[in-house]
Amino acid sequence: MLTIDGSFGEGGGQILRTALALSLLTGQPLRLERIRARREKPGLRQQHLTAVNAATQISGARVTGAALTSQTLTFEPGRVQPGAYEFDVGTAGSTTLVLQTILPPLLLADRPSTLVLKGGTHNPLAPPFDFLEQAFLPLVERMGPSVQVRLERCGFYPAGGGIVTVRVEPVARLAPLDLRERGRLHGIRARALVARLPRHIAERELQTVRAGLGLNDEQLEVVDIADTAGPGNVVTIAVASAEVTEVFTGFGIRGRPAERVAQEVVRQVRDYLDAGVPVGPYLADQLLLPLALAGGGALLTVPPTPHSTTNIEVIRRLVPVSITAAQVDERACLLEVANR
Ligand code: AMP
Repeated sequence: MLTIDGSFGEGGGQILRTALALSLLTGQPLRLERIRARREKPGLRQQHLTAVNAATQISGARVTGAALTSQTLTFEPGRVQPGAYEFDVGTAGSTTLVLQTILPPLLLADRPSTLVLKGGTHNPLAPPFDFLEQAFLPLVERMGPSVQVRLERCGFYPAGGGIVTVRVEPVARLAPLDLRERGRLHGIRARALVARLPRHIAERELQTVRAGLGLNDEQLEVVDIADTAGPGNVVTIAVASAEVTEVFTGFGIRGRPAERVAQEVVRQVRDYLDAGVPVGPYLADQLLLPLALAGGGALLTVPPTPHSTTNIEVIRRLVPVSITAAQVDERACLLEVANR
């Protein structure tokens, strides 16, 4: 059984999710120790436990230590069984991070799968639904499989109650992905979403985005929804270029002025545009796993974040690939994946 130290590098939930995904794909039994040791509340939280349970259910794994706050887990996967599954985080914990754990094996399964995921859909520190739908999955689809997602209901912290449905049509092999160019800028669109909160929050956010990025009214949209378990606010800016669409998100938090929420996401977009790279910091760490499964690919991105460097280490331990990072200039780095 391979032991993985969950405290190294970034020391968060991603080590657990990447390790579980690769265990499912390779059949390699794992022992994870010091899970999420660098987080304020270490060990398995509800979202991670749901991911462990999902990985267990789709593979009939033998597991010990699958309990809230547990910092040690052993995981011996069985054969992955694609099919219809429902996973409910039970809190506002991120549904997209549960998907991050089980999607890789389902992309390469021998039959399609249909998932219903319940919990948070727009969580700080996790991929928001719009990022998943518009940035990450179109690139995964370029590698062969089809992954259709639908946001049935938004879920925000702390009430949760969001619902995402997913349909996965797998392939036998993922094709390598080469993303070294961003291509011509096609357009920037900003959406400010308010759920059970005053509309002026969204309007103020869009004013700030408009001024910060020099956009016009056609590029801005207020989305005002009521069908949620609790209040929520996000600003989503999608930057569509010829080769890739990137999505950046600002999260409204009680006590944080709308203008600040918007300025923060404007800064992310500016950094991305100035860097001249196709792949932003979040896409980079999330694409490494599909690239490793494809056995090849390249990403021009920003200098690797701790999430990326940590993910590279976990992947290297479980997949026979080499992953190199070469600094191109101050703002750009080329990540290359190749079979070892
Ligand atoms: P961890 O902190 O280890 O639980 O991992 C968090 C994951 O969420 C990483 O894969 C990040 O790339 C991803 N993530 C965090 N914030 C965002 C965001 N604003 N947009 C897209 N992905 C995100």
